[in-house]
Amino acid sequence: KSKVEGKNTHTIFVPEMMEDNKRKLLLANKIIPGLKDGEFSLYYQPKVNPYEEIVGFEALLRWNSPEFGFVSPVEFISIAEQSGKINEITYWVLESVLRDSATLIEHFGSKLSISLNLSVHDLRNPKLFEDIVRLYKELDIDARCIEYEVTESTYLENFDMANEFFGKIKDLGSFIALDDFGTGYSSLSYLTQIELHTLKIDKQFVDNLGVSKRSTLVTKTIIEMAKQLNLNICAEGVETREQTDFLIANGCHQLQGYLFGKPAPLKAILNTFTKR
Ligand code: C2E
Ligand code: MG
Ligand code: MG
Ligand code: MG
Repeated sequence: KSKVEGKNTHTIFVPEMMEDNKRKLLLANKIIPGLKDGEFSLYYQPKVNPYEEIVGFEALLRWNSPEFGFVSPVEFISIAEQSGKINEITYWVLESVLRDSATLIEHFGSKLSISLNLSVHDLRNPKLFEDIVRLYKELDIDARCIEYEVTESTYLENFDMANEFFGKIKDLGSFIALDDFGTGYSSLSYLTQIELHTLKIDKQFVDNLGVSKRSTLVTKTIIEMAKQLNLNICAEGVETREQTDFLIANGCHQLQGYLFGKPAPLKAILNTFTKR
């Protein structure tokens, strides 16, 4: 729990909390050395169109630490954010994805959409956009092949800074996706004001399909709204044929999930999937 909980609350330390904090601290101190020592790698998960052809990939970061084994990005990204190390991670991801993009495009064609995830703190880093511009030039990147995913909640906490960044990304020719859409619990009016290309419907809505009439209707309504707003719609976490059929019948443009492919290293991706 946070240090600033209020004067009247006593914080009682229990051994598990100490263990938890110890792990966090140890992990935080291993992030930068781990990046240098090759402990981090990128996995790629396919995105398919309604014909189930590959239209893109999302880059997902993996950390295999000699001491801790595989650490989930959910854990280490939040530790990196709290300990001020996320910018280094993001730069590593950005450069690696842009380097891999040449291979992916060579294999899957020039219309491929390759996305990477940004964190809340990245939007506050003025150097990020400069790095993007420089790396695009250095690596001869086709900007139209790159999409940046920002979670809806992140975006809403940093509205002005995010909008400025989104505008610059659009001017550069790349795209913005709002990740985990539907979990931000906010007014939807902002959707008409921003430079957005894709809505990624959160897995929880995909999971809800067929569970009840009402939850199915909510998911259907989100898709309908995104269509009306002329946004590209990508459904996350698709695991069943039933979900796929429903999503395609309702006009979803892209699908991503274990049914079509789990995240895998670049080499495995090239061996498993063939060109459209
Ligand atoms: P996300 O960007 O929403 O990514 C989707 C997550 O759902 C990934 O988990 C993916 O492996 C998982 N997933 C995809 N399809 C399915 C499915 O059919 N079933 C199930 N059960 N899961 C599925 P992962 O790789 O563990 O990443 C978790 C989160 O960590 C990501 O959520 C993203 O927010 C963050 N993350 C991952 N890589 C990066 C990165 O390079 N930078 C930043 N800032 N965040 C990252
Ligand atoms: Mg994502
Ligand atoms: Mg997501
Ligand atoms: Mg997520």
